[in-house]
Amino acid sequence: MDSIKDLDKKYVLPTYARADVEFVSGDNAKLYDANGKRYIDFASGIAVCSVGHANKRVNDAICEQLSKLTHTSNLYYIAPQAKAAQKIVEASGYDMKCFFGNSGAEANEGAIKIARKFGEKEGEIKRYKVITLQHSFHGRTITTVKATGQAYMHNYFGPYPDGFVYADTINDVESLVDDHTCAVMIELVQGEGGVQPLDREAVQKLAKFLKSKDVLLIIDEVQTGVYRTGKFLASNYYDIEPDVVTLAKGLGGGVPIGVVMTTHKDVFSAGDHGSTFGGNFLSTTAACEVVDILNDIYASGELQASIDYFDGELEKFYGAHRDIFTSKVGIGMMCGLRVKDSDTLAKIIANAREEGVIVLRAGRDTLRFLPALTITREEIDEGFKALNRTLSSL
Ligand SMILES: *Cc1c(COP(=O)(O)O)cnc(C)c1O
Repeated sequence: MDSIKDLDKKYVLPTYARADVEFVSGDNAKLYDANGKRYIDFASGIAVCSVGHANKRVNDAICEQLSKLTHTSNLYYIAPQAKAAQKIVEASGYDMKCFFGNSGAEANEGAIKIARKFGEKEGEIKRYKVITLQHSFHGRTITTVKATGQAYMHNYFGPYPDGFVYADTINDVESLVDDHTCAVMIELVQGEGGVQPLDREAVQKLAKFLKSKDVLLIIDEVQTGVYRTGKFLASNYYDIEPDVVTLAKGLGGGVPIGVVMTTHKDVFSAGDHGSTFGGNFLSTTAACEVVDILNDIYASGELQASIDYFDGELEKFYGAHRDIFTSKVGIGMMCGLRVKDSDTLAKIIANAREEGVIVLRAGRDTLRFLPALTITREEIDEGFKALNRTLSSL
């Protein structure tokens, strides 16, 4: 029989530069490969496995649901979908309603559709422009690629939908708002762009300005959401009231799910938007359990204690290797170390894997950490030990 690597090379389109490892099982923040080697996972997919690998509560909930029903379509009521919507809205603290899809890009597509429909005014000019930021990342569909403020991604796939405008920084957004603008879409901590938090006061000032202009503020929380920054939403941390929020990565604990939620509860009517798989029994059952688990560790203070412990160890690691790292960035369990050059960064990531710890890249120069929010002290200690070995053998 062909090895998995051979099968992949023969039958899967080569859109990913895969690392030479095949994981076969996991346990919280630990992963095991096909040779039985153990790794500490400081990436959790890419901020996806928010409650760790093989979480028993999530798995039990899914298995129980699967023994009854997986799918009926959205033509009928779906109990876990309604419950997940309630849990998400309540945890957010906002007065919103949800639409469920299957990914971050789809959630952002929904957000853009909400903004465009909101911008449709009878008798007046149609407002259709969406302003996004340079270095942003909003997804891989044709529209969300165009929404992404990274010119190198606007390549072979055109023509793209019109109406996306890029601001160099958060402070430049205001001057780009015109009579055709329906929304501004931003990440509060740019993930793929380099774990770069936006300035809190600049965000609050922009939020106020957009309210006064009746322009929607869409916060892409696909990566920052579901307690990644220590609060349910980064929007809570920034103390703003967005009109639209999107979530995906950490929400299903590994199961595909995306959600767009908005204060504009009447913007869509039946038939305006839809998804075959969105909000099905499987994904929303997982989301209910994930939100319950994380609500509990947030309320008990356990989450903040883990964030503080991780941050302390990261600070020590950063301090011990100032010849390699130029700054420490991020919020909560979304952290990064800027590396002096991109070759060194590539070497660190590959060598770290050899030493038994999984870390990520963000942008050109950032070593990124997105561990499970349930990571233990022992797992954190083991991970940093492996990282120190990595750096001393560079
Ligand atoms: C990952 C990500 C997306 C895209 O999510 P997919 O599930 O891959 O479609 C969109 N926005 C942000 C901020 C992301 O981090």
